[in-house]
Amino acid sequence: MKITDLNSGGGIGANSHFVKIGTFNILVDCGLHPKKIGKQALPNYKLLGADSLDLIIVTHCHLDHLGSLPVVAALHPHAPIITSIPNVSLAPRMLRNSINVMNRQREEHGIMDYPLFLHRDISHVNKQLLSQRYSFGEIYHKDGDKIEIILHPAGHVVGAAAIELVYKQRRIVFSGDILFENQLTISGAKLPKYPIDTLILETTRGAHTRAKGTSRSTEVDRFVNKMNEIIARGGSCLIPVFALGRMQEILKIVYNARNSGALAHCPIVAAGLGMDICNYFDKIRKRSNIIDFDVRILDHMRVKDLEFNLRSGRDLSNKGIYIVSSGMLVQHTPSYKLAAAMLSHKHNGICFVGYCDSDTPGGELLNSKDMDYYYFDALDYRAKIQASIDQFDLSGHADREEIANYAIESSARVVVLNHGEKLARNWFKEYLEEKLPKTKVFDLVPSKEYEI
Ligand SMILES: [Zn+2]
Ligand SMILES: [Zn+2]
Repeated sequence: MKITDLNSGGGIGANSHFVKIGTFNILVDCGLHPKKIGKQALPNYKLLGADSLDLIIVTHCHLDHLGSLPVVAALHPHAPIITSIPNVSLAPRMLRNSINVMNRQREEHGIMDYPLFLHRDISHVNKQLLSQRYSFGEIYHKDGDKIEIILHPAGHVVGAAAIELVYKQRRIVFSGDILFENQLTISGAKLPKYPIDTLILETTRGAHTRAKGTSRSTEVDRFVNKMNEIIARGGSCLIPVFALGRMQEILKIVYNARNSGALAHCPIVAAGLGMDICNYFDKIRKRSNIIDFDVRILDHMRVKDLEFNLRSGRDLSNKGIYIVSSGMLVQHTPSYKLAAAMLSHKHNGICFVGYCDSDTPGGELLNSKDMDYYYFDALDYRAKIQASIDQFDLSGHADREEIANYAIESSARVVVLNHGEKLARNWFKEYLEEKLPKTKVFDLVPSKEYEI
């Protein structure tokens, strides 16, 4: 088998692996790099021959895995796109939103590459999409050769799948993004077990240890207590969230905490793409048992839409809990504008509940402990940092020890590290080489083909 990491920027970036096995040319994931602009954000698709892919497989619908699907699908129009059942409806929705964002960026920043694809490309993607149930293998044929593909629930987010390829009894597993613990909306990952030949492993949290004595449930308690504290002091609580998965999970945490009496009643505001995704989740729930999210909780909590007359530095007139995207306070998003309104008022609080890249405004604010002011560059506004800023470890990614233990149990002959910054990959490489001395651990150089 030959494998090439097409994520030319390295790190978490634009996930995409090109695999040649037997006669098959397979692409696993087709992301967009969240920190790069225009065509620079694409995986290195130039390494693929024209119309050469036999199969495209998508692990889940976060844009670092999905964002360039219409681009690669248009180049390989005969390749079926295999993904889980929920993703067949979630992927086009996420991609349509991506066109809107790119169009806005074209206008605001003059990025003439945008949009990288059009709505008609998404219509073509719809024709190529082929859903597969979890845990049931499907066999694909080509020129007398055959390969079996099995999708396994990966936790992480609704629709997420780990991908198992079985070729001539050799089992190759792409973990995709994984979370073993159950969330309120979905169950944790159930990944294939030993014997695995080659394991392509996510390493997101490799540079991070969970604080001693804490767990997901203690973090939920701490989060609920913080929201109570902010409401009690007469402030508003901003919770920046990713639209897909995190928003619905936080809505359920808030709903359950209110119902049990753990969280004081106050107005709840939620807005953006995530609210539409709530409706998608509800439809998926009605058709399957793989998700636990009932859109009626929004009515029960009387969730309100966001007021649009936000002004930097002017505190919110309606106090409450604000659950809005983006999760990393990216410029021009509702969470960014809300933060600019709230930050200089000390009764307010910002609660981060997921991953925040250090280069994003969210990451900068989290690292602002010694700073008195924060500059919102997109608004040309300097705010005195008065509101409380906290982070809660409710990540959609498994702890590094859990992922490493899975790799150790699999006794894979080869482990390929993926989806992590340098420090994170280094931890996994050292740890696995010590615990699995017979295993080859690869940190692939992007765009270089490896025979494994
Ligand atoms: Zn993800
Ligand atoms: Zn990812």
